[in-house]
Amino acid sequence: MQKSIRPGVAHINRIAPRRRIFFEALNPYFGYFYTVNKSIRKTSSFFQNIELVETDEFGKVLLLDNITQVCERNEYSYHEPMVHPALCCHPKPESVLVIGGGDGCLLREILKYPTVTRVEVAEIDHGVIHFAKKYLAAINRNAFESGRLHINITDGRKYIEEHPGEFDVIIMDMTDPFGPSKMLYTSNFFRLIRRAFRSEKGMFVMHSESPVSRPAAFSCIGKTLRSVFTYVNLLYCYIQMYGVLWSIAVCSSTVDISLIKPAAIDRMLQKNGIDDLQVYNGATHAAMQVPYPYITKLLRKPARIITDNRPDFPDDFIF
Ligand code: SAM
Repeated sequence: MQKSIRPGVAHINRIAPRRRIFFEALNPYFGYFYTVNKSIRKTSSFFQNIELVETDEFGKVLLLDNITQVCERNEYSYHEPMVHPALCCHPKPESVLVIGGGDGCLLREILKYPTVTRVEVAEIDHGVIHFAKKYLAAINRNAFESGRLHINITDGRKYIEEHPGEFDVIIMDMTDPFGPSKMLYTSNFFRLIRRAFRSEKGMFVMHSESPVSRPAAFSCIGKTLRSVFTYVNLLYCYIQMYGVLWSIAVCSSTVDISLIKPAAIDRMLQKNGIDDLQVYNGATHAAMQVPYPYITKLLRKPARIITDNRPDFPDDFIF
């Protein structure tokens, strides 16, 4: 550890002069910072403020309402585990739905699978997609140009209500649970997701908050998912752009991804011609599912099922 460095904003200003210091709170008592060189583009839509900034640590970063969504430099540590475990473990993923995900980075990973013939996106904010097409094309590798893709500008919940029985894999890449995304974290919504599967092999993926910075939200999301799906496998990944250890839930009524062996995952990736991943392979498929003992204890503690009648979380906070 470098003992000579004294903490504090004044010190950061000295070592990185003429930078805006961007702070993001992960709970009322803890958060992280990075330095911003300049704001590249700032706009606002009906739903949120949208800004692209140039940073020293992450390259370009997309902020929605001043919350980090995606960065240029190591976004793969989030997008790979959000996509590949489900697409490698489903026997034949053809029809995929993305709820949210307006930056397009999940799409880039999904489109690597030749079996996938149809990708629907249900994103509430046309402004984010327009912005991502224009400014994030190098990160999402022009995913929005794909002929397999259909964009639906709509509330993800409304879309799910209107499309039962259509999807092999549903991936929810959603802002944290408040504002327009609040009603997409309830057991009522997860039952609608189950109804939208094309077969009993259907799989659902979502980020399930951080066991470190939002332990109550993490526990409640897990409990809510387990009230609807038989298998809720959690993956734990350190995601630098979100500042902390994060969790991703892979859920199904019949597919238990913990039973899929590393060699089978490697074979699936190879069969699909995927050889450019940075964090996901057979070995990490297994490793990411191993909880630290404190997480196992946390998961045994009482937690509340989140419902439409009570969609709030015990550790909700707004700044
Ligand atoms: N990976 C990011 C994270 O967890 O910070 C999320 C990225 S993605 C940009 C989140 C998207 O969810 C945003 O574009 C936002 O507009 C969209 N969104 C929020 N509420 C929604 C809803 N009810 N239906 C569909 N999309 C929604």
